[in-house]
Amino acid sequence: MMRQFELVDSVAAYTPNVDENLLNRAYVYAMNKHGNQKRASGDPYFSHPIEVAGILTSLKLDPETVITGLLHDTLEDTDATPEELTELFGSEVTHLVNGVTKLSQIEMSPQSNRQAENFRKFLVATASDIRILIVKLADRLHNMRTLHFIKLEEKRNRIARETLDIYAPLAGRMGIQSFREEMEDLAFKQLNATGRALIIKRLEVLQSENSDMLASIAADIEKRLAENNIPSQVAGRQKRPFSIWRKMEHKSISLEQLSDIFGFRIIVNSETECYRALGAIHTKWPLVPGRFKDYISVPKSNNYRALHTTIVGLNRQRVEVQICTHEMHDVAENGVAAHWLYKEKTNGTIPNLEDIKPFRWLQDLVTRLAAGSTAEEFMEDTRLELFHDRVFCFTPKGRLISLSEGATVLDFAYAVHTMIGNTCIAARINGNDMPIRTKLQSGDEVEIITSPTQTPRPNWEYIAVTGKARAAIRHSLRDYRHKQNLRMGKNILYNIFKAEKCTINDTILERALDAFNCETLPELYAQVGRGDLTGSQVLSKTYPDRRNRNRIFKAVKTLTAKVKSGQDKNSNIPVIGADENIALRFADNCFPLPGDQIVGIAKPGEGIIIYPAKADALSAFENMPESWVPLKWDIGENNKQIYDSRLNLTVVNKIGTLAVVANTIGQFNANISNLQLTRRDDDFCNLQVDVQVRDIKHVNELISALRGSRLVNQVKRFIA
Ligand code: MN
Repeated sequence: MMRQFELVDSVAAYTPNVDENLLNRAYVYAMNKHGNQKRASGDPYFSHPIEVAGILTSLKLDPETVITGLLHDTLEDTDATPEELTELFGSEVTHLVNGVTKLSQIEMSPQSNRQAENFRKFLVATASDIRILIVKLADRLHNMRTLHFIKLEEKRNRIARETLDIYAPLAGRMGIQSFREEMEDLAFKQLNATGRALIIKRLEVLQSENSDMLASIAADIEKRLAENNIPSQVAGRQKRPFSIWRKMEHKSISLEQLSDIFGFRIIVNSETECYRALGAIHTKWPLVPGRFKDYISVPKSNNYRALHTTIVGLNRQRVEVQICTHEMHDVAENGVAAHWLYKEKTNGTIPNLEDIKPFRWLQDLVTRLAAGSTAEEFMEDTRLELFHDRVFCFTPKGRLISLSEGATVLDFAYAVHTMIGNTCIAARINGNDMPIRTKLQSGDEVEIITSPTQTPRPNWEYIAVTGKARAAIRHSLRDYRHKQNLRMGKNILYNIFKAEKCTINDTILERALDAFNCETLPELYAQVGRGDLTGSQVLSKTYPDRRNRNRIFKAVKTLTAKVKSGQDKNSNIPVIGADENIALRFADNCFPLPGDQIVGIAKPGEGIIIYPAKADALSAFENMPESWVPLKWDIGENNKQIYDSRLNLTVVNKIGTLAVVANTIGQFNANISNLQLTRRDDDFCNLQVDVQVRDIKHVNELISALRGSRLVNQVKRFIA
């Protein structure tokens, strides 16, 4: 535990005029207030706030933030009051402590819907001062460091998962890479100790195989730069096990194929020297085309700046080189916190929060909360954004549009303007006409082609990846679906009443309004159209004396084109969004798993066919918006049901390979339901393996394990 004088000394080291008395008082106050409370580790409770304050000093944050670290749990866990804090430490500190307390009270619940709502509240609560979030992140980091003391495995897993899903990406978004990397590593260790050990072991092997090459490149770089009069520090850096694991899971590559396992960071004194160093390196080593990135002139949205390039070393091993100044290096490690460190250079004033990009991102996000997406949609969108890097594209007039990586023409159109998005039909990218689903690359010049008759299509929701576009599309589709429901509901009612030879008009229908809690007729139509109410229910309320006859049901069935389950051996597919009586099946040759986005296409006489949202086959239905049914998996934590998933493997053509593959699959409790040899030559063969798994998490674990084998060259999951 950090001692009192150590804490004060370390703050004084970077804030010479600090009020030491105030810091001392806060230290003693936290100790007294937490008294005999104990942590799960058996340590006195006050060790926790002191460690949190220590973490904050390592980021060189201002004394108010460090004091907030000391006091962050006093309002919640002790008899301290805001009035007392204001009297002793001032209103700024009280505001910050209040903010952190509010964050802690927003308990993340395991139910996804409440979790989403809470996440939304969580972000709103951070919007007044970015330091609240930084203290909360430091708090979580210390809790992760002491995670192993918690007895219940389930609780440890929940905390680790939440850290991975929310806190680590947020730290990354704020540019605090040191927090992000440590959080990810600690969570990885808790959630997948075997996977982590496997990667570390292979990294060690790779490292020792390449250590001579790396040492000689480092020495060469330093020599080369010295010759050019560029004073520099060259430090080797290695990718963290977790980010390697994630890349292996997301891309179809093995560890050796990752191009940025080894790298150097070169720190120089000025921006000009960054470019000069780059030139010196490019004239000496062959470089990998397409890997050069200039984040100095176009910084990442978390303020990261540096030049990146990848060179080819001996044994054709690729080595990533990052070039930056000392200040850029500090921002890369400490992110938003570095703004306090550099406030001296901006006349010693507190940094203007509006100038800090990550903070602006946070505020944009919070503003979007008001735009009316449901909590769950919001959560999904935000998660997507947290994880993505950016691509930068230009309008024909040269306006820079920055989008999440993987963004399409459609995202670009919505980023320009919602109306442009709504009427987008295609784009001219660097002079070539391209469809709206085209993925954009950094540097693309994009001219959106619109048509006044165009309206958003249901499949757009799956083409767009940015939160802004998806929210706008959903909004107009909701309108569209609502109108469609109105029309359909009215049709259903008029047809049924006619079939039953009952008079129907507004006055007669209005008799039923009260019974179904509707204010107006359109509301009633919409309920019928959505299927919340059946036509016969309305009929029996308006003509209470009539007895329902079977043919009413018949009429409803034909009208709504809902198909009675005839061939429904699959109708226990657990999805939300389809009527119980409708037959469900997966489309032929498609293998969606719980966790994949899915969409239903209603086919008269067949029921609903489930497609993976990314399936190309869906383009055949683009002009039939009425047959699209939004579907969601309805799977609980303890799902036992299994589904077919198809894997395409390239393996070494050698005796024993098949046994290794089969064994690995068995170790992950997955059945092989079909296996085919699709191609064979002297060195490699291709296998198509159908395995039965629970969900994408299960199959991804399996894929990562297969990729870990030396006999397996490539594994790709085939979805559609
Ligand atoms: Mn705490």
